[in-house]
Amino acid sequence: MKDKNVISRRSAITGMGAIIATAAMPSAIAGELRNDLYAGPDPQEDPTTKYPRPPFKNQRQPWPGLASKMEPQPDHGEKSYKGSGRLKGRKALITGGDSGMGRAAAIAYAREGADVAINYYPTEEEDAREVIRLIKAEGRKAIAIPGDLRDEAFCTKLVEEAVKGLGGLDIVVNNAARQQTQKSILDITTEDFDATMKTNIYAPFWIIKAALPHLKPGASIIGTSSEQAYDPSGDLYDYAQTKAATTNYIKSLAKQLGPKGIRVNGVAPGPIWTPLQVSGGATPEKLQSFGGQTPLGRPGQPVELASIYVQLAANDASYSNGQIYGASGGSGNP
Ligand code: NAD
Ligand code: MG
Repeated sequence: MKDKNVISRRSAITGMGAIIATAAMPSAIAGELRNDLYAGPDPQEDPTTKYPRPPFKNQRQPWPGLASKMEPQPDHGEKSYKGSGRLKGRKALITGGDSGMGRAAAIAYAREGADVAINYYPTEEEDAREVIRLIKAEGRKAIAIPGDLRDEAFCTKLVEEAVKGLGGLDIVVNNAARQQTQKSILDITTEDFDATMKTNIYAPFWIIKAALPHLKPGASIIGTSSEQAYDPSGDLYDYAQTKAATTNYIKSLAKQLGPKGIRVNGVAPGPIWTPLQVSGGATPEKLQSFGGQTPLGRPGQPVELASIYVQLAANDASYSNGQIYGASGGSGNP
């Protein structure tokens, strides 16, 4: 009964169902609900001015870059993301969990009640430490597993360590990626091409294979794709095709694992202000006007995608399988 009230309250607060739900409730609960609904203003935020707009300062970091050294600093929801128990008791592994979308998802998952393991490249320890601190601040388990995803043995070990540290696994977010801009296909070496394929395509393959024996009905696999899957840029020849592959594996696996009760979905960001872009992902010229071409006139911030990662893992998205959810500021697909 208690659980039922919690669910009724949440759906009532978030939607038009509020009035109908209130009418059907005992007056004490309805009163509390009204207090929630009208307790202080939740002002509308103008999405065009909510976050920094270009032009941005010229900046370049060695790969893979640190969020802590970006100007302006990205917003991963450190101060703003509020949870409501949507992932209580869940156990999540997030690759690239130190910065960008991965960090935003890690913070949000912890605030929704999940224990979280993050993987990152060893040189990202500084960013990772901050994420670990934020997860622990929520009273959740936080496991840091640095290592190179281009290595199959490491990917297998990563899953084993996450399972051991968390005491199980039910959310896997394959989010890490390599993106290096190159004007010409002639400038992409076989080593470059291989590194992009290994990070973006092989690693999720290895990780999902290792994770699958641990996943039970209700588990969720999420991949980070991109608008590049649909409309590739000329200077992202190798990266863009890995994102098309990501969207494709999500749709294939959703069919394969759906009957087992495991959902597989993806997120397709547009231009988002993350270290990936300042450490070789974009040219300096592109970076200065980054996001300016979108209808909102600015890049997205990682936190603006956090609720999508939550939604795709949560029980209430139980009919979302094989879907790609976009957040691209008004242009691009899906
Ligand atoms: P980010 O730099 O914050 O995250 C990428 C992470 O990948 C790094 O933090 C790093 O930990 C990890 N990584 C890369 N190579 C690795 C390796 N060999 N071993 C271990 N870890 C490795 O940038 P982000 O933009 O948040 O990227 C997250 C996801 O979002 C990626 O899949 C990216 O393709 C996707 N994406 C980003 C944008 C954007 O504009 N930023 C747009 C569309 C899609
Ligand atoms: Mg990083």
